[in-house]
Amino acid sequence: MITIADQFGIKEALKQLGIEEINEGTSTGAANFANGKIIESYSPADGTLIGKVKTSSKEDYEKAMQQASEAFLEWRMVPAPKRGDIVRQMGDELRKFKEPLGKLVSYEMGKSLQEGYGEVQEMIDICDFAVGLSRQLYGLTMHSERPLHRMYEQYHPIGTVGIISAFNFPVAVWSWNAMIAWVCGDVAIWKPSSKVPLCGVACQNIIKTVLKRNNVPEGVSCLVTGNESGDLINNDKRISLVSFTGSTRIGRHVSKTVAERFGNTILELGGNNAIIVSEHADISMVLVGAVFGAVGTAGQRCTSTRRLIIHESVYDKTISVLKNAYGQLQIGNPLDENNHVGPLIDKGAVQDYLDAIESAKKEGGKIIVEGGLVEGEGYESGCYVRPCIIEAENHFDIVQTETFAPILYVMKYSTIEEAIALQNGVPQGLSSSIFTNSMREMELFLSQSGSDCGIANVNIGTSGAEIGGAFGGEKETGGGRESGSDAWKAYMRRQTNTINYGTQLPLAQGIKFDL
Ligand code: NAD
Repeated sequence: MITIADQFGIKEALKQLGIEEINEGTSTGAANFANGKIIESYSPADGTLIGKVKTSSKEDYEKAMQQASEAFLEWRMVPAPKRGDIVRQMGDELRKFKEPLGKLVSYEMGKSLQEGYGEVQEMIDICDFAVGLSRQLYGLTMHSERPLHRMYEQYHPIGTVGIISAFNFPVAVWSWNAMIAWVCGDVAIWKPSSKVPLCGVACQNIIKTVLKRNNVPEGVSCLVTGNESGDLINNDKRISLVSFTGSTRIGRHVSKTVAERFGNTILELGGNNAIIVSEHADISMVLVGAVFGAVGTAGQRCTSTRRLIIHESVYDKTISVLKNAYGQLQIGNPLDENNHVGPLIDKGAVQDYLDAIESAKKEGGKIIVEGGLVEGEGYESGCYVRPCIIEAENHFDIVQTETFAPILYVMKYSTIEEAIALQNGVPQGLSSSIFTNSMREMELFLSQSGSDCGIANVNIGTSGAEIGGAFGGEKETGGGRESGSDAWKAYMRRQTNTINYGTQLPLAQGIKFDL
């Protein structure tokens, strides 16, 4: 029988990525900080065991941290544009490995092959961004109130950055953080999700050749695996910044633990994103934005569209168009480009999805498009579900909760102010959007009394973002920003410097202190 792995050249891809002894327990990358328990990685596409990865024990973690700390002393002295040049080479290396790495992302995580390649492209893009940034780590100069004084600020590397990433972006989130951290002069210790560990090993293998070629210590990029390492990172005073991407539940724990030791965090947590469909919307555009937003990546993006807030005058028409589109969705193997919807990550996620539908029904939700588990030939992994649509009210507990699955809640509104209040009326604040051709509605939505989210789009869905902007959200999404714009400032420590080049010592605020 020809398996998905045979058909799509997965074994060949693993080989190219340096992951060969998959059944012996691949060690995790450069400095081999992994001699602990073994975790197994199964593909949600077909339920096949892809490989086994050794996790990091406490001792392995300690070794990794020591190497990272030593590497920092060297790396911070490398001029930033030179660090940028090394990151440029990493981008070139990722270009070479785009195909096998994209395939692995798709097969291990379950997102479509196009999205797998897209994720690697995002890594390449952030490398390019970081190269430019390496010559632009600017501080301001201020005028001193004292004569013959000069005042300015400068940014220094912050130290070791701990990166803890979620399963749904197995490689891109790491690169958003690591590439920026590296040009800033920091070193990175990465704990990938235990659900997609092979992606972590593959990235480390790609990066280590660049480090070696440039005689850079391996400790600049450390990989540790297993959940135990997560808590070691949270509690480790040597880690100045923890960039955590994951659920609000775990993020709350990370936030408290790191704050307790006065460490810094970037928190990128759950979303509950809505699209407002105005009576002035172009419904054909809504269709693409809403359907891709709700069912793309099987609803497993932090920016997935979870709620559709539709003007009462276009409600029936929008629902009818959506029902028709949902009827045409092809569910199946994510590596096959004819399919629109791949699997959920595992059976636990399927159970959460089924439970959420039951809860919505109990709270009074009306099923518009029926969901459920997809079974039969081609669906043996038990991870494929049907995208569903439920008419619901915003205050339902289940609507207030992020379920990481393709469930779309729809509801009506009559005034734009009401729509904005519904959109903002959830604990999360990541991504939001309005489809409208009315300039007044658009500006209101983007104004200070409009969307309360970190991302607010017009005539674009909620899902996905470009690397050039600062990415992140408010409220229970955690308030962190990463990737583009000036997000780099979180990876550095700011120092204010005042120099007196006169012969007197005047005090600030005119204070007299005569001796
Ligand atoms: P999760 O919270 O279950 O796991 C995230 C990471 O935390 C994993 O690497 C996990 O191993 C690790 N972890 C587990 N226990 C830990 C501990 N005690 N200390 C430190 N780390 C620990 O999330 P998930 O299921 O992998 O991902 C889905 C969630 O991530 C969703 O809520 C989604 O919205 C969110 N997410 C947010 C963004 C964003 O940018 N806002 C991006 C992607 C995913």
